[in-house]
Amino acid sequence: MLAVRGAAVARSLVTGARRYASSTTSTPKGSSNLPFFLLGAGAAGMGGYWYLDYQSKHTQVKQEKSPFDSDNFIDFKLKRVEPYNHNTSKFVFELPDNQASLLPVASCLVVKSSNPDALKDANGKPIIRPYTPISPPELKGEMVFLIKQYENGNTSKYIHSMKVGDTLAMKGPIPKFPYKANEFDEVAFIGGGTGITPLYQVLNHALTDKSNKTHFKLLFCNLTEKDILLREELDSLKKKYPNNLDIVYLVDNPGPNWTGPSGYISADVIKKHVAPPSLGDKVKVFVCGPPGQVAAMAGKKNGMKQGELGGILKELGYTEDQVYKF
Ligand SMILES: Cc1cc2nc3c(=O)[nH]c(=O)nc-3n(C[C@H](O)[C@H](O)[C@H](O)COP(=O)(O)OP(=O)(O)OC[C@H]3O[C@@H](n4cnc5c(N)ncnc54)[C@H](O)[C@@H]3O)c2cc1C
Repeated sequence: MLAVRGAAVARSLVTGARRYASSTTSTPKGSSNLPFFLLGAGAAGMGGYWYLDYQSKHTQVKQEKSPFDSDNFIDFKLKRVEPYNHNTSKFVFELPDNQASLLPVASCLVVKSSNPDALKDANGKPIIRPYTPISPPELKGEMVFLIKQYENGNTSKYIHSMKVGDTLAMKGPIPKFPYKANEFDEVAFIGGGTGITPLYQVLNHALTDKSNKTHFKLLFCNLTEKDILLREELDSLKKKYPNNLDIVYLVDNPGPNWTGPSGYISADVIKKHVAPPSLGDKVKVFVCGPPGQVAAMAGKKNGMKQGELGGILKELGYTEDQVYKF
């Protein structure tokens, strides 16, 4: 819109200069038109310059392709590490040529070491693990993972030992649930620990869409208050979209200042906070957390497949179509 307006201004300056030049043909002899013409031409030139400058800064050249490949591992350079808490950091990777990841929501990537001699299992095969970007797909030039380090964890320890400038091999996207705006009236997220990453990916994507009408409820469990990941980001989404998001934080081991609920998520907690199964296809419950939590909430996953619905959600009457396990 502004570019169009800029073009119109530049055009009117040019035609204005032309009009002025022709309307002065009857000027008495001896008085030169040149200064006026130069003034007009200068203005036109400035307008043209401003227009081109504006265009170069604001014209969107549509990026057609993601820099990721779902069939091949590609190395991406670590640009920055932002420590998040005692065992978790944000890892910011550089995307070449200021490209955006353009990964679908929801999806993740699988990663392995760029060095074929590092990060191998007992049989000498590369260890590969999935991670979920928490940066929006349209963010240019970088992509962010939030990764928790496990004491005996192969890949998480390896990534936490990486230095800025090192590369990590990534492949994807691995598509998860294809989120569509306003497909549901009510969406509940039940998450634990780093299971927040795909839930945050969907939440951030959905809420920042101006057309969004869906109401989201997040039930997020962690060991202690200091283990709550992305709390600032989540609270800031709540502040920005107070009518479309409610968050309940739960901790296993509450400190003396904890005023929220504690312990595991029970049937009563779900009944209190999650929209009922009677809403049919207007309600969806997404579950993502440690395998024990997923099994207790919705039944075990079967490898990469959903597995049968079980757990508390099944007891409460939710159907397989109403539940998705990340
Ligand atoms: C789809 C998907 C997306 C994921 N996204 C993220 C993400 O964004 N950020 C992130 O930090 N992780 C994420 N994970 C988990 C990640 O893929 C790894 O499983 C995790 O980093 C541990 O891998 P590792 O190689 O370090 O540990 P491993 O070498 O596999 O395991 C070593 C030890 O750590 C324990 N362990 C491993 N994983 C867990 C766990 N989840 N909870 C408790 N103990 C565990 C094991 O029991 C074992 O004792 C995701 C997992 C899936 C399936």
